[in-house]
Amino acid sequence: MLKAENQSYQLDRQTGRLRIPIRGTEGVQIRLPLSDWHRSFLNDSSWALGSLTVVPGKIIVVVRREAPKAYEPDGAIALDTNEDSLDGVVASDGGMVTTSLSLRGVRRIQQTHFRRRRRLATKRAGDRRVMRRLLNREGRRERNRVLHRLHLVSKRLVQFAKNGRAAIVLEDLTLRGAGGRSRRMNRRLSSRPRGEIHRQIEYKAALEGVPVIKVNPQWTSKTCPVCGARRRDRVGQVFVCLMCDWEMDRQINAGMNILKTALASNEALARAVRFQPGALRHDVVSPLYDLPALLAGAREEPSGVE
Ligand SMILES: [Zn+2]
Repeated sequence: MLKAENQSYQLDRQTGRLRIPIRGTEGVQIRLPLSDWHRSFLNDSSWALGSLTVVPGKIIVVVRREAPKAYEPDGAIALDTNEDSLDGVVASDGGMVTTSLSLRGVRRIQQTHFRRRRRLATKRAGDRRVMRRLLNREGRRERNRVLHRLHLVSKRLVQFAKNGRAAIVLEDLTLRGAGGRSRRMNRRLSSRPRGEIHRQIEYKAALEGVPVIKVNPQWTSKTCPVCGARRRDRVGQVFVCLMCDWEMDRQINAGMNILKTALASNEALARAVRFQPGALRHDVVSPLYDLPALLAGAREEPSGVE
């Protein structure tokens, strides 16, 4: 409906009163309802106002801030992005430990809403208009629930990386693997949460000065991180190397290869991290955080009444 650059509207950062001039002295005034979350940005003068966008149902005010220079990493957190978790290793000059960040709930939320949408579509098949409205509402609710969980995960990961002065290493999901895992990649590219969690991690990392390194995901799930041999057949839940007998959970294994790829092209990281798969510690499964505890205060289960 309308997009305005920051010179062409006025927003009172205390009251939320928005004024959009139209011509001469004419203009539109809207009072934006401000939550504590909104105020945390508006009351912080380091955030400048950017463009304003008005679309049906919402008003989007962009806030912007200069990102600090990323630090030289002392370690790395390399993660393979999966449907319901991020898996890989935390590495420093002292060695590596396996890690797994659960996105628990995200897949269940998607399944719940998928079932509900299908039920709605059957029940309301006679009335297309009502059906569309209900389906849209279901879509919005699902999106909000998924986003809420992804924000918790991305925030904790970036904080953890910053505390340990570690770089975050992820796959570049925009690069399509031409070989071994193209089918898997295609499926991933078509579904949003993977891209969304990366987007969140990247912008939060940029604001905190946490370096993010993206690597080509090709072959990461089919390569042995110890001897470099590749499997051309299907890899099950556990990656087993036919050349050197290395065995590892498929997703952790992919995370290790993501790290290895980053080390090959990033000198600063290679100086900071010792890549020794043989000395990998399995005892620390999730040093990052405990998502169930985090969600305990923010749980919103479907009541069945809605
Ligand atoms: Zn091997």
